[in-house]
Amino acid sequence: LAPSVMDIGQRFVLWVRSHCCHDKSSADIETKPKAKGKDIVVLKNDHVDAPKRPLPPLPPRDMYVALYDYTARTADDLSFRAGDRLEALNKTGPWWFARALTGISANKEGFVPANYVAQEESLYAEPWYFQDTKRVDAEKMLLSEGNETGAFLIRQCESQKGELSLSVLDNGKVKHYKVRKLDNGGYYVSTAKSFLTLKELVQYYSENNHGLCVQLGEPCKKLEAPQTHGLSYNTVDHWEISRSSIKLLKKLGTGQFGEVYEGLWNGTTPVAVKTLRCGNMDPNDFLREAQIMKKLRHSKLIQLYAVCTLDEPIYIITELMKNGSLLEYLQKDKGKELQFHDQVEMAAQVAAGMAYLEQQNYIHRDLAARNVLVGENNICKVADFGLARVFKVDNENVYEAKEGSKFPVKWTAPEAINANKFSIKSDVWSFGILMYEIITFGQMPYPTMSNYQVIQVLPSGYRMSCPANCPTVFYNIMMDCWKENDFDRPTFETLQWKLEDYFDLDVTSYADTNRIP
Ligand code: ATP
Repeated sequence: LAPSVMDIGQRFVLWVRSHCCHDKSSADIETKPKAKGKDIVVLKNDHVDAPKRPLPPLPPRDMYVALYDYTARTADDLSFRAGDRLEALNKTGPWWFARALTGISANKEGFVPANYVAQEESLYAEPWYFQDTKRVDAEKMLLSEGNETGAFLIRQCESQKGELSLSVLDNGKVKHYKVRKLDNGGYYVSTAKSFLTLKELVQYYSENNHGLCVQLGEPCKKLEAPQTHGLSYNTVDHWEISRSSIKLLKKLGTGQFGEVYEGLWNGTTPVAVKTLRCGNMDPNDFLREAQIMKKLRHSKLIQLYAVCTLDEPIYIITELMKNGSLLEYLQKDKGKELQFHDQVEMAAQVAAGMAYLEQQNYIHRDLAARNVLVGENNICKVADFGLARVFKVDNENVYEAKEGSKFPVKWTAPEAINANKFSIKSDVWSFGILMYEIITFGQMPYPTMSNYQVIQVLPSGYRMSCPANCPTVFYNIMMDCWKENDFDRPTFETLQWKLEDYFDLDVTSYADTNRIP
């Protein structure tokens, strides 16, 4: 880092020494001690000459702006607030070394999570640019607390890659406009007026609505900061952490393998700590869970931060989800707060996490509402890949389970129960059961039947009937997941878009901008 962290002032001093002072005696130069022992050179007045050569340009500074607030977790990283300016000094890996130029850490150097900053003056630094935001998420964000009519964002359009959309909140409703590109690189919402940059377009429609439903107001509020890549820059590669850095605060629950606690890492960072009860199972099985989780990274999957495996009980440190398991969340709520719209959205989030696993050729093997965790704003993440295994694609697309394995029968596909054949398609079956749990606010599937009865009736084609208050379209998706032939079941990718576009299956339906004069 040394050459790259040399500050501009020091470089200037060296430049002055080599360019201006070479013909001066040391008596002509005063050297004043500066804070932290750095020297500063001051030329005496009677010797200040014009430089003999023009100053070479200083190297451009690599300037970034913070997109979210971040509170330092170690002595080596920087706290900052959204909007603070930072100079990147070393951009290696997911944690960059930077100097803060403004804000609470001004003039300090330290590590920052790279996904919390964007290059200054770039589109990504604009507070209204939400790069990878789906239509459904844009609506959720705009409709959430803190946004008023006129709140807006510009995002990449899902239906046509490379196209942009403008989403605007208008009296409790979100309207979407296509932002089209001109061949010469300009942008327009209506052909009547085009702009060289998106910034100009935003500026223009912030001053008058000119055919938009409403004049643009404040940029949409961001719901939550993304997960950092690991807990800190030095746990990324060294994920075995010291047990003394973890303080267990409160027991959250008890699972098959041990207890789960709310904990605090390094006295700064809330985490969840899963402990492995000794003698209960082979610790290697637990460690295998950790190894798998570590490689999987997606906004709808619980992130593994670190482990403590050198002593027992083993700790597995993950992100903390404020509202616990989806099952408890649904059962507690029973529809008081959660509307059908929320239920569809929660199912869509689980499908998104599972679509990622599908893409990675992993199978979960224990997908159920008890293994989905809920954060703020109904954010759902798939957890417990305890039974998942790396799955190499072969002709069968199945995983042969060990003899004598126990299954959560009511969630498990018939071919998995009867022939130990697990595949991503048996996860799809489980997903159908999870949809049932969501729509019934956490009711036990097949409520009047025992496990044994369920195993008996499934081969003859018996399926759960449509629950009360469950719309047919939603039920039909569940039924698709329970097709007898696993090849006939949808992929998670299909389930994801069906649920994300549930209320608006025609994704090309945009507010009619042609009418803008
Ligand atoms: P199993 O051990 O069969 O997977 P389980 O999923 O209920 O069963 P755990 O994953 O051990 O068991 O979790 C037990 C409980 O602890 C959960 O029901 C949930 O309420 C809580 N919990 C687990 N992980 C977290 C987390 N990351 N954040 C917040 N709460 C959690």
